[in-house]
Amino acid sequence: MLRLRWQIRKLGGILAVSWGISVLVIAISSTGVLQSLEWFAFDRFLRWKATDQTESRFLIVTLGEEDLREIGEWPISDQKMADLLTTIQQYQPRLIGLDIYRDLPVGEGREELISSFNAVSNVIGVEKVIGEAVPPAPELDMENQVAMADLVEDDDGRIRRGLLAIQCNKERKLCKPEEHQQRKYGLATKLALLYLEQENIHPQVLEGDRLQLGDAVFQQFSPNDGGYTNADAHSTQILINYPAGQSFFESVSVSEILGGNVARSKIYDRIILIGATAVSLNDLLYTPMSWDERLPGVFIHAHIASQLIASALDGRQPLHGAPPWMKSSWLLVATSLATLLVHEIINHNGIYQKKSLFSLILFIPCIGAGMVGIVYGVFLTGLWLPIAAPLLSTSLSSTVLLLRQNQQLQGLASLDGLTRIANRRSFDAYLQRCINQQTPVSLVICDVDYFKRYNDTYGHQEGDKCLISVAKTLQQGVRRNDFVARYGGEEFVIVLPNAELSMAYEVLGNIQQQISKLNIPHVASDVSSHVTLSFGVISLSDLKEATSKSLVEQADKALYQAKRQGRNQIATLS
Ligand code: GH3
Ligand code: MG
Ligand code: MG
Repeated sequence: MLRLRWQIRKLGGILAVSWGISVLVIAISSTGVLQSLEWFAFDRFLRWKATDQTESRFLIVTLGEEDLREIGEWPISDQKMADLLTTIQQYQPRLIGLDIYRDLPVGEGREELISSFNAVSNVIGVEKVIGEAVPPAPELDMENQVAMADLVEDDDGRIRRGLLAIQCNKERKLCKPEEHQQRKYGLATKLALLYLEQENIHPQVLEGDRLQLGDAVFQQFSPNDGGYTNADAHSTQILINYPAGQSFFESVSVSEILGGNVARSKIYDRIILIGATAVSLNDLLYTPMSWDERLPGVFIHAHIASQLIASALDGRQPLHGAPPWMKSSWLLVATSLATLLVHEIINHNGIYQKKSLFSLILFIPCIGAGMVGIVYGVFLTGLWLPIAAPLLSTSLSSTVLLLRQNQQLQGLASLDGLTRIANRRSFDAYLQRCINQQTPVSLVICDVDYFKRYNDTYGHQEGDKCLISVAKTLQQGVRRNDFVARYGGEEFVIVLPNAELSMAYEVLGNIQQQISKLNIPHVASDVSSHVTLSFGVISLSDLKEATSKSLVEQADKALYQAKRQGRNQIATLS
């Protein structure tokens, strides 16, 4: 019962430490200092789970450096654009997304381009609404065949979120007055919704602004989801669950299309996304999928669209960041469990006694790896939990725990187990310090008289109690800065720094009185009816020649004298 209560108290102590540190780390991470580390982990997780599968619903038509050389102009003329669209249209694609701005006429052929726009009702053009705006081609705008090409960059320049839509009455500054009440869609969203419409799947907005497409439910991104801190979560955004890098999509070049070198099967019934990939056109962006290689914007739109469609039709997992309450709970639970585990391991193996730092170095990485494993496992189910914050709080809380236990252990190592006063080890250290600092001292060794007989008469347990009482009385009887220790058996030592012999006698006389007042019966003693002590005391003002050993030997000699002279007295070397 006592043990159980002790265990519960200890457990409570550990939990108090880990919770306190968890709260501290939650506060630290709310400043955003851990965000980069969380992003780093997020990017890693995405790359770890990347597969080599491909997406058959899309074809990307790339406008690369070679195409630019071949066409010999940029922006490419309306005429060329019209040719491109008409050629693609011949092969009956399901939808065409034109991720190239076309707000103003370029070169010859505007008429042709307009008529190609009119001929194909499935072309979606783009406009840019955030930051410096770029209006859409008016002809497409009139037909409501326009979507936003904007992408949301994180502070480190990577694209982890997709902008699905904005609600004009909420985001007035991003819309024209006449667009009031309108919902503007991102290019990917618009293409995905049109595609799904043909599959008879219509979007539904659920409680909490969640978007339902088929069986898939997309949670709207909030500023503190997952590893984010105070992100700009305006409008409707989702995390992009990149399944792979650029190779996920099949692509052909603009020149290949214009040259008629593309098989009909590559275009038929697919979503065709046309966009710039040439480095000089500067539509390249960093994504989690590669550390240093940038991905053309058109591929990112394709990824978002592919995620929406595949989630609705094939059950592909959408990705959500854990909301703040879940993040805090995870941090608290993970830190507590990991700290308990650290505590269990070090105490069980006794490694602790050797060097706590060593065990820290050994076990923290293992526990850290376990945590990464858990977070990655959860990530695979579509939920992004933070990892940097719990790792930090576990490390801190384990360190605090170890330091605290170390301190307690050091305390235990310096105390005598029975009497709870300082032990011989502490005495040796203390006396040595006095010698090193040349502090004048009086040194006393005292010994219980006829203690063997006491044990024989009253039993060993009573003997123990007697020693505890004597130790307590000694401790209470000395001056504030004096040092009392159990030297061994029924012998005690007292060091009185800066005390001359007369002062030592005064203190010891007082102690003798207190011991006598205790009145512990000792019928087998030859000197008294109660327990008495003999004291041997020496006093040295000059410690230049002194060693611990010589001091103890002298005090021992004095004690021997006290014993020889009849016990229950104080003696010094004459
Ligand atoms: P003297 O007056 O000459 O000191 O006689 P003494 O009997 O006290 O001395 P002796 O050294 O012969 O015996 C010391 C006894 O102290 C023997 C030992 O059993 C007892 N003792 C030592 N440590 C402990 C302890 O931790 N608990 C108990 N109960 N007895 C102890
Ligand atoms: Mg003795
Ligand atoms: Mg004795």
